[in-house]
Parts: sequence; structure tokens; C-alpha cells
Amino acid sequence: MRLVDGSGQRQPTDTRPAPEHERAVAALRASYAAVPPGQPVRLAKKTSNLFRSRARVGPAGLDVSGLTGVLHVDPAARTADVQGMCTYERLVDATLPHGLMPLVVPQLRTITLGGAVTGLGIESTSFRHGMPHESVLEMDVFTGAGELVTARSDGDDADLFAAFPNSQGSLGYATRLRIELAPIGPRVTLRNLPFADLDALVAAVDEVAETGAFHGRPVDAMDGVMFGPRESYLVLGTFTSEPGPTSDYTGQAIYYRSLRERREDALTAYDYLWRWDTDWFWCSRPFGAQHPVLRRLWPSRYRRSDVYHRILRLEDRYRVAARIDGWRGRAARERVVQDVEIPTDRAAGFLRWFAEHVSMSPVWLCPLRRREPGPPGSRPGAGSPASAGDWPLYPLAPGRTFVNVGFWGAVPIAPGAGDGDVNRAIERAVTDAEGHKTLYSDAYYDRETFDRLYGGDSYRAAKERYDPDHRLTGLYEKVVQRR
Ligand SMILES: Cc1cc2nc3c(=O)[nH]c(=O)nc-3n(C[C@H](O)[C@H](O)[C@H](O)COP(=O)(O)OP(=O)(O)OC[C@H]3O[C@@H](n4cnc5c(N)ncnc54)[C@H](O)[C@@H]3O)c2cc1C
Repeated sequence: MRLVDGSGQRQPTDTRPAPEHERAVAALRASYAAVPPGQPVRLAKKTSNLFRSRARVGPAGLDVSGLTGVLHVDPAARTADVQGMCTYERLVDATLPHGLMPLVVPQLRTITLGGAVTGLGIESTSFRHGMPHESVLEMDVFTGAGELVTARSDGDDADLFAAFPNSQGSLGYATRLRIELAPIGPRVTLRNLPFADLDALVAAVDEVAETGAFHGRPVDAMDGVMFGPRESYLVLGTFTSEPGPTSDYTGQAIYYRSLRERREDALTAYDYLWRWDTDWFWCSRPFGAQHPVLRRLWPSRYRRSDVYHRILRLEDRYRVAARIDGWRGRAARERVVQDVEIPTDRAAGFLRWFAEHVSMSPVWLCPLRRREPGPPGSRPGAGSPASAGDWPLYPLAPGRTFVNVGFWGAVPIAPGAGDGDVNRAIERAVTDAEGHKTLYSDAYYDRETFDRLYGGDSYRAAKERYDPDHRLTGLYEKVVQRR
């Protein structure tokens, strides 16, 4: 096996074990051994898409610097062997020349495969293929006990395979994953369907999720945006090999605005996969990147989600904008950055509640359904060997379609209210709607509720087996206590 370099230029591949990979795993082991007992063991990783700020820890960190590449793409088997800290940007660069893509490609370029599997990713193909962990065939995990384990849906370590998704790196770190790939055409045609009624939008979601088509035309990808309860859009994408014109939203035009302006559109497959990264959905607006003059001056290579994220982290540290707000006498603001999954039969009601009580706009909508075993073609996405498992730490009911609702911003703290109150109200509303909340951002659950929602018993059993000395920070401590 050979590594694919960062430029995406493929080098010849063969099936020999990559010496680079072996060396990288040895470096990881050595860095683990160097952490004194009693000190927390954490990743030393350059990029992150986590939103919760956390307490600073000591200098010790696991060396994962050599685990950022693609090991092997097998076009015949439609699989890829990928190192745990490989970004999706690099992974897609390696698979697209074969006309293949990972079944689900999270929209932000620097999300890593290991991060998306342990921290849950989602994208417009999730109504067919579920979440990234559902197309993992096997993975090597460097556990909290310092052992390298190859986990699959069956065999000795099936419990780790099942408990890894949503464990947020608290059981071990994936060093290599073998994933399924799907064939795609080089171009995506898009239908931007407007809805003045959320119930009608949700009915359309259900139709596509059940049949894989809308009004007779096949649908490979589906997401949407709500600007308000009376203005929302569903975007239906179909990969195609037919040539034709394509739009470009990496320059002056801004993708999310196009949904209001165009009913039909087309992008290259590459631009489609990263359509949301250029403006971090719409979150580039506060940085000035959508102002026509500043946008022209802003080098396009810096219009990327990781650049905005870095700016935001500086703000987190120095709180410049918060201080200016304070001087101007503006109300303090509560960060409300969440992705939640609501079953379709409750989704329209939840969105109306959200618009009334939180009133942030726009809101991202992304349908999601667990992959189901069964003969290929029996429903969109069926037939996965990896899908037979249960995922106790993020249990989505099989056969039920959910809508992921994503909202990323801040709201003024009302007089008499506390920081966190809006997030707590959202947590209650999500549970009331039989939904789930992903855990990359702030969470306020008490331990008992958290255990009930996120598979506490399965988690504890896996923790005792794979990290008996609790060298890695626990899930609740990471997510709720921000450690
Ligand atoms: C604003 C925002 C929007 C988002 N939108 C989307 C979205 O649209 N689609 C989507 O799919 N996801 C989205 N996410 C969630 C994102 O996919 C997860 O947070 C994911 O875990 C990030 O991966 P990362 O590689 O950046 O990991 P990091 O942010 O570096 O780490 C996340 C957690 O995973 C652990 N971890 C990292 N690598 C590994 C590994 N190899 N093995 C085990 N544990 C590991 C870390 O310890 C940490 O606890 C969003 C997040 C944010 C902040």
C-alpha cells in the first residue's frame, strides 16, 4: 500500500502493508507510553470541528501526525483503507478519480474519517446510507488500554465496533478504517423545490426516503434549508454522467442564496460535495466574507470552513466581539450551535416550535435514515454488510426517517434568563419529539438523562473492557463537563 499525497495525485497502489502506516502507529504507541500514569491522554491533532470549548490540559498528546492519509483504494471491491485522521478532503481527492465516493461525505473539508465515525457525520446521502459509521467494514482502534484492536461487526470486538460511533474518542482512536465506496457520475443535477408549508416539505422527504425518487426522477442526495416556516427549500440531487453546464459557488456567487433564486441547477460532483464548505453553510457572513467588496479581496483559498473556525476559536479565547457588545450595551449572547435529529412525523411541529422560540435563520435540513439490511434495491441504500449492527450510543429506530436540523449561531440572553437556557429548552423539545441530539457542541443533560439517551449501559461495558484504567476522558465528562 502507498500513501496518496495531499494534492490528491494518486500514486500506484499495491497491497503490501504501508511501512509509513506501521511507523505512524509505532509513533502513536510511543507517545501513549510517554504519557505519565494519571495524566489525561488526548489527541495532538491540528484541526477540529468541535464547537464546545474545553478545559485546557497538559502538553502531553498522542502523536497522530502520520495517520492522515489514504492507504489504498480498491476500485473493484469499491472499498478504501484510510488512516483515522485523514480528512474527507484528502479522501475524496483519492476516490473521485476512480468515479467513487465514500457513501456519506460530511460537508466540511477538514472533518476526518475517524472524527466522523466516532463523532457522527451526516450529509445529503444519509437518507440512503445513514451515517459514516454504517459503511465502515472494519477498523483498527488504538484503545485506552494501549492495545491495537481490529473491530468488525462480528467477532471478538464486535462490542467495540458497535459502541465506537458517538463515543467521541473516549474508548480509543481509530487508526485505520476500511470503508465502502459508491460509484457516482462526475456531475450533479439539482432541483431546488420551494415550500410554503413545512408539512408538505416533510411529506416530500418521506416520499423520497421511501422510494428513492420524486415525481418519477431518481434522487441520490437530498437536503434543504428553512429560511422560515413559510419559506423552505428541498434540494434533490442526482449524479449523472451526462455533460452539461455547471455553476460555480466558490467565487462571488454564494451557494445557499442560489436556492432562492434558481429552481434547477448543476454542479460538478467535486463542487457539490464541498458546496457548503466555502461559506460554512451561511456562517461566513459575520466574518464579512459575503460582503461583495471584502469577498473579492478575500483569497478564495481562505474561503473554507477551517479558516472561519480558526477565527472563531480566537474569538472564543479573546472574546473581542463579546467585549465590544458589552461596551455598546448589547445583551450577552448564548451560543446555540446544534444538530438534532427529529422523526419526520414530528419534524414540522419541531421546526415551527424552533422558529417561534429560538428564531434563528437559516436552518439546515438533512434527512437521515438508518441503513437497513436487505437485498440491494429493496429500498434506497439497502444491502449493506455493515448495517446489520445496532449502534447503542446513538440508537436511531430502524425504518424511521429523521430530519437533521442544524442551526449555528447565537441568540441574545433574555432579561432574567441564564446562559444555556435556550440550549436546555431545545434539549427538552428534542426529547419530547422523540429525537436525538449530536454531541459535537454544548450539552446540558444531567447524567441520568444522558445515560438513558446515549446507551449508558453499553458504554460502561465497553469502557471497562477497552479503557479499564480510564486513561481517556469519559464521554459524559467530555461532552457535558467540557473536559
Ligand atoms: C458547525 C458544525 C457543523 C457541523 N456540521 C456537520 C455536518 O454538516 N455534517 C457532519 O457530518 N458533521 C457535522 N459536524 C460534526 C462533525 O462531523 C463532528 O464533530 C466530527 O466528530 C468532527 O470530526 P473531526 O475530525 O473534526 O474531529 P475533532 O473535532 O477533532 O474531534 C471530535 C471528537 O472525535 C474524537 N476523534 C477524532 N478523531 C478520532 C479518531 N480517529 N478516532 C477516535 N476518536 C477521534 C476526538 O477525540 C473528539 O472527541 C458539524 C460540526 C460543527 C461544529
